[in-house]
Amino acid sequence: MNLILLGPPGAGKGTQASKIVEKYNIPHISTGDIFRKNISEGTRLGKKAKEYMDKGELVPDSLVIEIATDRLLEKDTEKGFLLDGFPRTVEQAVALDAFLREHGKAIDHVLDIDVDKDELITRLIGRRVCSSCGKTYHVTNMPPKVEGECDACQGELMQRADDTKGTVENRIEVYNRQTKPLLDYYDKLGNIAHLDGAIGLETLFAQIVDILGE
Ligand code: AMP
Repeated sequence: MNLILLGPPGAGKGTQASKIVEKYNIPHISTGDIFRKNISEGTRLGKKAKEYMDKGELVPDSLVIEIATDRLLEKDTEKGFLLDGFPRTVEQAVALDAFLREHGKAIDHVLDIDVDKDELITRLIGRRVCSSCGKTYHVTNMPPKVEGECDACQGELMQRADDTKGTVENRIEVYNRQTKPLLDYYDKLGNIAHLDGAIGLETLFAQIVDILGE
């Protein structure tokens, strides 16, 4: 099963992604995670991506398309994959389609999760991420048992460098300007489901399972 998760930053894509990949046993491919890993390892790719990420801007298409398609060539994607945060522009979607066609594949479902802007800002500014296992929390909506410490692995909870107020607002604007046109693109292809990200994570996951099948 080949899937794409779409939606603004803070819509809950990461949370749903973890549940989907566990249930359907497919790899979770997040271009944001690939960039953050490269930043923490100090690679050339990481340094380049950081210039854009810190401002809440998109990393240039050519760079993103290359890392995403390289990842899609790995063997574990043969039985399916979940793309989270890619594509984010029509140009990336067109490149992805061409790549998949060349490899005899196609996207089965696009899941679009939407949440209103004020709620996105609240969610992103309060988001904390475990620096060790990546589990996410929220300072008020989903606090850890011990402040600053991951319930699962006791790792230190951090705020993402791009989860600050100024950057968050720009990321939402960038989403509206550059990524929203993708909804039309997939609407025309007819394989997109529009979902309300404010209904609670278990209800939302149940709707996703209804779409994808047991
Ligand atoms: P995310 O973790 O998906 O919120 O991504 C964090 C940041 O990584 C974004 O704000 C962009 O700067 C960059 N990024 C991740 N995926 C893409 C993409 N498909 N195209 C361009 N930039 C991306």
